[in-house]
Amino acid sequence: MAHALIALGGNVGDVRATFRKAIANICGMTQAALLARSSDYTTPPWGDVAQAPFINACIEIDTPLDPHALLFVLQKVETKFGRDRGRERRWGPRTLDLDLIAYDDVSMQKPELTLPHPRLFERAFVLVPLAEISPERVIGGRSVASALAGLSTEGIERLPDLL
Ligand code: ADP
Ligand code: MG
Repeated sequence: MAHALIALGGNVGDVRATFRKAIANICGMTQAALLARSSDYTTPPWGDVAQAPFINACIEIDTPLDPHALLFVLQKVETKFGRDRGRERRWGPRTLDLDLIAYDDVSMQKPELTLPHPRLFERAFVLVPLAEISPERVIGGRSVASALAGLSTEGIERLPDLL
């Protein structure tokens, strides 16, 4: 089994309901055990700022799949929940974005899969939920908590748990 961290994001539709269903799908389709799930956070849009706020969360799973197979499943789940990569603009609105943040301590630099995720350390919207579930985890030589300490978390707010 390998240990994987996955970031979820979206800003179109009922994103929190999408997350709930997507997490069940990810675990089912990857034969994974869900080890931890962060709270949901509302976060300011990033990149293309003229769009609705995002909701972000992170999960930690144990999975028998290799990194490429895991990414393939994540892309299938994105498509299932309405993401259409052919029609969206980069960093624009989307129903569901699933990023593989880390996979054990694997390091790889391929266009289709870079590990750890190349933009992790710029993104408070990933590091805030990650720090909730895994603050001591070291990724690319830095702990999640220390990486987060160097970033602004302005506008990021934890949402109350859904019943
Ligand atoms: P972003 O997540 O930066 O908003 P996209 O979701 O549109 O962008 O992803 C663009 C491409 O990034 C995908 O085609 C995917 O193959 C590639 N990619 C490279 N590394 C990763 C990773 N660690 N997790 C998810 N996608 C990745
Ligand atoms: Mg993505």
